[in-house]
Amino acid sequence: MTTLTGTQARTLTGYVLRLLEYPRWFIGREVDFTDCRFAGRYQLGETQCAHCRFGPACRWLNLHRDEPTAATPLPELVDALQTAATYLRTESPSTSCHPRRCDCDTCLWLHEAGAFLRAQRHKT
Ligand SMILES: [Zn+2]
Repeated sequence: MTTLTGTQARTLTGYVLRLLEYPRWFIGREVDFTDCRFAGRYQLGETQCAHCRFGPACRWLNLHRDEPTAATPLPELVDALQTAATYLRTESPSTSCHPRRCDCDTCLWLHEAGAFLRAQRHKT
C-alpha cells in the first residue's frame, strides 16, 4: 500500500488516491481467477467475459491495474472512484444485501466516496 506524504494527503488528488485504495484491495480480493482462461485479463467484446460473474470487477481491475499516482489527472481518478462506488453499491455479490444502516468498512467507504462524488458534481 502506498503511503501518502502529508502534503499529498491534503490535496484533492491525494484524497482521491487514498479513497481508491479500498476498492483496489476489495475488488482484488473478491475476484477469483482460478477458472479464468484469460488469467484475469479482461477481454473486451468476449462473451465469456461479458457473462462472467466477476466481469464488472475484473473490468475495473484491468482498467486500473496500474496504481494511480499524484500525476494521474483528477478527472480520471474521479471516474475510477465513480465506477468503483457503483460496482460496490450495485454489482458486488458480497455487498448487495447489507442493511440500510450498516457500519461495515464497505458501507462506510461508500458513504465517504458518495459524499465526495456528490460534492465534485456540484463543482462542475
Ligand atoms: Zn455494510
